Amino acid sequence: MKRTIMKKKNALLHIALLSTMNILAIQQKEKTTEDFRDYENNASETIKEFYRLNHTHQTLNFVLSKKNEYAALDKLLMGIWDAMNVLDTIVDDSDPDLSLTQSVHAFQTAERLRQNNHPRWLILTGLIHDLGKVLVLFGEPPWAVVGDTFPVGCAYSDKVVFTHYFAHNSDINNALLQTHYGIYTPNCGLANVHMSWGHDEYLYSVVKNYLPEQASYIIRYHSFYAAHKEGAYDYLMNDYDKSMIPLLQLFSSYDLYSKSPEPINSAELMPYYKKLVAEYFPETINW
Ligand code: FE
Ligand code: FE
Repeated sequence: MKRTIMKKKNALLHIALLSTMNILAIQQKEKTTEDFRDYENNASETIKEFYRLNHTHQTLNFVLSKKNEYAALDKLLMGIWDAMNVLDTIVDDSDPDLSLTQSVHAFQTAERLRQNNHPRWLILTGLIHDLGKVLVLFGEPPWAVVGDTFPVGCAYSDKVVFTHYFAHNSDINNALLQTHYGIYTPNCGLANVHMSWGHDEYLYSVVKNYLPEQASYIIRYHSFYAAHKEGAYDYLMNDYDKSMIPLLQLFSSYDLYSKSPEPINSAELMPYYKKLVAEYFPETINW
């Protein structure tokens, strides 16, 4: 069967650019849990600039236009492993804790879950949770792909990282979007809230029909640290969202603390993960 792997003409060029820009594999020292996500002491100028751009440009209109642009999932037809190969070319510039490739992070997260005997669907979630970063293939800038996510269309919580950069967001001048609830109603549920655009929301839309509901939920909100780490925005959550917070926190502990400079022998792990992916996904899916 003829498979269309890449429709975008410039996709390969873009990957090549990314890989040359991001070969920054810096040796890391052993870390304690407090050392992770330490933006005060660990944020490089690159990370600060990343969040300046992210908080400036992630307006409600931007998010709505991206949701609309990607809703049809008509950009690519590719398999989970094709997407994993794309991740191999990406290092996340917004992450103060990881300078290895994303596919290493994928295997490290999944392996740590597997070692602790978590269910197969959760191990799979660990493996694929960041595949939405293939958004770079479509020319999206880093500030529209990675980083922490937050609701748009209502007042910003000071629990969002680098909150002072919201001063540059044009939504700040729209009083309707700056009240406590903004365009939302009390406890309307996160499914009714527009989150800043990036790999979470995008991958959710790609995989939601293939995975258990909890797995899709983790993928959709895993970067919403203001909520699952800092307890913010509970007034937008319904009972279902609140019941899911412990699961987001559990997943987050694996997402963060599995990060290590140790390389991973993906060839050795492949038979297990090939089988696991095939349990849930057909050979190709729409992106
Ligand atoms: Fe992520
Ligand atoms: Fe991750």
